Amino acid sequence: MRRLLLLLITVLALLSGPRPAQAEGLSLTRPVEGEVLRAFDDVGRYAAGHRGVDLAGEVGQSVAAGAAGTVSFAGTVAGTATVSVDHGNGWRTTYQPVRAAVSAGTVVAAGEVIGTLLAGHCPRACLHWGLTDGADYADPLGYLDAPVVALLPLGASPPTPRTIGPARSSPDRLPVQGRITSRFGMRVHPITGVTSLHDGSDIAAACGTAVAAPWAGTVTRTLWSSAYGWRVFVDHGSGLVTAYNHLPGIEVQVGQRVGAGERLGSVGTTGLSTGCHLHWMAWRDGQLIDPLTL
Ligand SMILES: [Zn+2]
Ligand SMILES: [Zn+2]
Repeated sequence: MRRLLLLLITVLALLSGPRPAQAEGLSLTRPVEGEVLRAFDDVGRYAAGHRGVDLAGEVGQSVAAGAAGTVSFAGTVAGTATVSVDHGNGWRTTYQPVRAAVSAGTVVAAGEVIGTLLAGHCPRACLHWGLTDGADYADPLGYLDAPVVALLPLGASPPTPRTIGPARSSPDRLPVQGRITSRFGMRVHPITGVTSLHDGSDIAAACGTAVAAPWAGTVTRTLWSSAYGWRVFVDHGSGLVTAYNHLPGIEVQVGQRVGAGERLGSVGTTGLSTGCHLHWMAWRDGQLIDPLTL
């Protein structure tokens, strides 16, 4: 029995393969500013999957190096114009399809232009950005300094990014003590299956967990919506409005002043919701923004 168990563990270890090496302090910046059109599939080395992220861009726009390094390749891979940059410790970022403005051996700084974006990877132009240690692939968005929008496949929970050095910090003022499960950005809706803007960030916590105002403000609206369930809106001044959705009910009154950290209600799952979580939304001057960037 014990021998069988050992064998099973060995086989599993072989199948999963070695985890990528840790490269201390690799910190990336976005090579183009566009939104994430397709996310990274964390499927391991042998399975098929999307081993990079697709960032929206315009044909002809500049593509910047995600970190300082040395260009290790500038040319064509299987018909696709490709630039690769070595960042030390075996870590390499790749950029496709990109017409190179550099050649192998060129030393580049973070943010320095390495080429221009070509058409071909997405129906509308996009950059396919990859990160590898030479054997395995990692999600480059897991190593960004700045937060990023995420696109999630149907029914999936976001993979934990593999860490290289210190992970990027999350905001210190969350309305709920919980785990961020889905960020603001384009995604396939977990219930309707329709690709659309996920107009807030989700924080998962047990139903009943307190929801507190991250900043002082005034409750401006409380209402029921078939999609968002029970909702509370808070105006914080300076053009900033936040909303708290899927609450089990309404505990505050319109016009009520709330201080930072003061209770607004609790986590629920009313409306179109797959489980207990807070769908946290924010607007700056009427424009929807990711509350996690505040
Ligand atoms: Zn891609
Ligand atoms: Zn949500």
